[in-house]
Amino acid sequence: MIAFKSIEGFETVPFRNNEGISHELIQRLLERGNEYGLGAIFPFCVEKIVVADWVSLKCRYGCSKYGTSWCCPPATPDTDKARAILGEYSLALLLVGVQRCADFHLNTAKKRTNQVRYWKGTISLERQLFLEGYYKAFSLVSGSCALCKECAYPKACRFPMEKRPTIESFSIDVIGTLQNLGTTSKVAKDRRNAFNYYGVILLE
Ligand code: SF4
Repeated sequence: MIAFKSIEGFETVPFRNNEGISHELIQRLLERGNEYGLGAIFPFCVEKIVVADWVSLKCRYGCSKYGTSWCCPPATPDTDKARAILGEYSLALLLVGVQRCADFHLNTAKKRTNQVRYWKGTISLERQLFLEGYYKAFSLVSGSCALCKECAYPKACRFPMEKRPTIESFSIDVIGTLQNLGTTSKVAKDRRNAFNYYGVILLE
């Protein structure tokens, strides 16, 4: 066995497996998440995530992002692969944000600003978790990647370090998962109503 010594003067943390996550760390993550518009973070067991084949229909039919982004299908893992990947994780964090954006169905600058903010917030929390020893931390982000005004797909991604799949691209039934967690969400029928958005960070 090889033992690595930490260099004097540099702080190190052990890599973490199956240790759960402390309330204190959740609070620190939430403080940072608040800066990006996140309102709540809930730890939960990955087994509660509902993966369903029908979710890919919503991507394939009726979404303008299909085949136009590195973070959406078909560039992302298919349903079987997504199931297999989720099976390699045990713990997850549900990230919840609230948005009020009446023109969310249009490609406005405001919508993009919100999306970029939330996207960067999720990646920032994933990075913080990695530095806490959660080396498998991986984000499934809400919405679609808006880091570029127009995605470079199928040419090389301009910000590969921040490229992550969307939660829907992993065939995750978000509403079914919320129900599995004993909560739910509602449809905002009026465009002026606030609505929730959800992301997940996978951990072990
Ligand atoms: S960073 Fe830009 S090129 Fe890369 S997936 Fe996002 S929008 Fe596309």
